[in-house]
Amino acid sequence: MPRTIHVIGAGLSGLAAAIRLSERGERVIVYEAMQQAGGRARSYYDAATDLVIDNGNHLLLSGNHAAMAYVRALGSQAGLVGPPRADFAFIDLPSGKRWTLHINKGRTPWWIFSEQSRVPGSSLMDYVRLVPLVWASKNKTVAETIACHGPVYDRLGHPLLLAALNTDPPQGSAALAGAIVRETLLAGGLACRPLIARGLTEVLIDPALRLLESCGAKVRFGAQLRALDLRDGKAHALDFGTERIVLEKEDAAILAVPPWIAPSLIPGLSAPTQYRAIVNAHFRVQPPKDFPPMIGVIGGTVEWIFAFPDRLSVTISGADRLLDQSREELATAIWREVAQVAGITTDLPPWQVVRERRATFAATPAENAKRPGAVTKFFNLYVAGDWTDTGLPATIEGAIRSGNRAADLALRNQAT
Ligand SMILES: Cc1cc2nc3c(=O)[nH]c(=O)nc-3n(C[C@H](O)[C@H](O)[C@H](O)COP(=O)(O)OP(=O)(O)OC[C@H]3O[C@@H](n4cnc5c(N)ncnc54)[C@H](O)[C@@H]3O)c2cc1C
Repeated sequence: MPRTIHVIGAGLSGLAAAIRLSERGERVIVYEAMQQAGGRARSYYDAATDLVIDNGNHLLLSGNHAAMAYVRALGSQAGLVGPPRADFAFIDLPSGKRWTLHINKGRTPWWIFSEQSRVPGSSLMDYVRLVPLVWASKNKTVAETIACHGPVYDRLGHPLLLAALNTDPPQGSAALAGAIVRETLLAGGLACRPLIARGLTEVLIDPALRLLESCGAKVRFGAQLRALDLRDGKAHALDFGTERIVLEKEDAAILAVPPWIAPSLIPGLSAPTQYRAIVNAHFRVQPPKDFPPMIGVIGGTVEWIFAFPDRLSVTISGADRLLDQSREELATAIWREVAQVAGITTDLPPWQVVRERRATFAATPAENAKRPGAVTKFFNLYVAGDWTDTGLPATIEGAIRSGNRAADLALRNQAT
């Protein structure tokens, strides 16, 4: 009987692990508590707008190498769309001023030398002031590392770091912010092209399920792991309530569940305990013809607007302050800003507001320090997820890297 690797959780980390293992010829079973895969990155039909929407707009960058390799393996790269180059459109809402950052392809940042390409009102020194983030210490916040003001911080550093950390940047981990700066701005325009999935499920999830099926892997929905039988340094069984699955001698398990679940299944496992919300608002309206694929909004409640063929969708990160506001109030206030940016004069179109309270862990130094590695005290049990110690904030890229790593460890363990 060949060994089986059990993957618990069909979010992006679990799917990435399962794909890597299946492609290496392992027998894989994925267990997902819900009836749908994708976890925090999923699409669904929304009756209020009569559209298929994503739970949140998800931005990838062309330099997210693990995510790009994942999408290539799925064959769904055509579903990632964005501007042809690393161009980032912005508007300053109070003044109405618009500009576009043009980040040149190579690593030498020629763009910061050109007034047409860089942040308006900025000087070269303003960019140099971001550099200490690159070698920042793990226990420092962004505010303890760089000056959190000035044109480059206000119009580039703040929006970039807020989107990546999902945490008010001054309180954010300087080390995680540094990882973002290294993998984006310092890597040059080839790594910074923004890419948006035209349907999270269509591009990132359903093709993964099809690939797994073609490799012979099984995916079981409605299978919620209730407990793990952990003794003598080994996981002995998976308990799904009505069913107990015994792990044979060579079997292994990868727990790819969110940070608020994993410690209840592995007593003593360290994990972040504070989270930050993301609010997304979707408006069923055709974007104006020349509207960019995405635009950063400075000085408003709205932070980013994404254009889809059938809607304009808004992302607001670190959005805990908006959780107590009524959905109607939020939709009206957000639409006012969207209409101003897009130059649309119509009243509030059909809308939906999605509030993900625990979108990501809070990317502060204290929470970052709680992230565990993939290896556990149990030799045949690994953990994966965007909240494990990936060196990145909670992102698709981090989730996929963590799944790959857990899979590699399980493969290596069998080889030794
Ligand atoms: C609104 C929003 C916007 C975001 N925007 C971006 C973005 O622009 N760019 C970006 O890179 N990232 C973004 N992210 C983050 C990204 O979605 C996550 O990093 C990624 O999806 C996490 O994947 P994961 O596999 O680690 O966890 P999850 O997606 O949480 O997957 C865990 C899975 O485990 C399942 N599960 C839980 N308990 C059990 C159990 N007991 N038994 C079996 N299964 C179980 C869950 O149902 C879930 O399917 C965003 C997140 C949100 C919520």
